[in-house]
Amino acid sequence: MKRRDFIGALAGATATTALTACGQQESAAPAAAKPMETVHWKMVTTWPKNFPGLGTGANRVAELINQMSGGRIDVKVYGAGELVGAFEVFDAVSSGHAQLGHAGAYYWKGKIPSAVFFSTVPFGLTADEMNAWLYNGGGLKLWEEAYKPFGLVPNPAGNTGTQMGGWFNKEINSLDDLKGLKMRMPGLGGEVLKKAGAIPVSLPGGEIFPSLQSGAIDATEWVGPYNDLAFGFYKVTKYYYTPGWHEPGTTMECMINEKAYNALPDDLKSIVRNAMKVANLEMLSEYTARNEEALQTLIEKHNVELRYFPDEVLKELKKLSSEVIEAEAASDPLSSKVWASQKAFMKQVTQWTNVGEGAFIRARNL
Ligand code: CA
Repeated sequence: MKRRDFIGALAGATATTALTACGQQESAAPAAAKPMETVHWKMVTTWPKNFPGLGTGANRVAELINQMSGGRIDVKVYGAGELVGAFEVFDAVSSGHAQLGHAGAYYWKGKIPSAVFFSTVPFGLTADEMNAWLYNGGGLKLWEEAYKPFGLVPNPAGNTGTQMGGWFNKEINSLDDLKGLKMRMPGLGGEVLKKAGAIPVSLPGGEIFPSLQSGAIDATEWVGPYNDLAFGFYKVTKYYYTPGWHEPGTTMECMINEKAYNALPDDLKSIVRNAMKVANLEMLSEYTARNEEALQTLIEKHNVELRYFPDEVLKELKKLSSEVIEAEAASDPLSSKVWASQKAFMKQVTQWTNVGEGAFIRARNL
């Protein structure tokens, strides 16, 4: 089609559509010259609507896709419970009821045992290291392999950075102090707690505060100061423990329904996946910037007592974590393959992290 004819054919189209379609015509085959109708996508999430960091991170993915596509894709975001429940996100996107799902891969451990390795494992990779494994160490390819049978395309779409160890009403001075404790902790961290004699509970974010308040659970972890302040856990607990040994740098995901994704032209495919890459960076920056402010508010305004887990407790938790992870990996062929990749990467990258950033952080604190 000649350019003049092509523009003429677009006479009735809106300005936005005409511009994007013209841009496309330069490089695409003639078949793509037909102006595309706006694609309407639904994004379901496991977070309360607009929840700081996580919910707003999901909104940001949608906003970036809308902006970068020049309006050719229109994504509408639904908070947990609006369209489907928090833990129904995976099925909703897999079935095509929604096209996008913003969540954490470890919530799907019951369906895909290897999924936990794509969010975080206890005493595992930091946010930077996790991105290095996903983008440059073969991690994302393995994640795609894990989600493929469910008709899903996974993407990293945010990271909380190192999380906090959780909220308690008693001090944790030895592993015995964890015995019988009902604590909200999902994923492999929860399995480690179970081995330590505690009773792990998995609850979506919105249900944690009422459960703590009613005494249904004794303790909880959630994310870090920025999010934990917003949920008000300081009102019902006394001690705030660090570090978040169970979540050293948790990757959030945005899964795409594979059929919906494959129906897009290549430029929109690239826009969708790169919007998620931008959101991945932005969320980590937001947490890094906001956590310290929130921590000071918790300590100074709400009299929260900050505590460090004793080294002996951490050493024992690390040993139990290794047992839990190895058993988890051995129970499923894909988990075994994924863990072998992540473990080898962690061994290698840890040496560099210690020599590079580790040595520098030590120097800066002298
Ligand atoms: Ca957490």
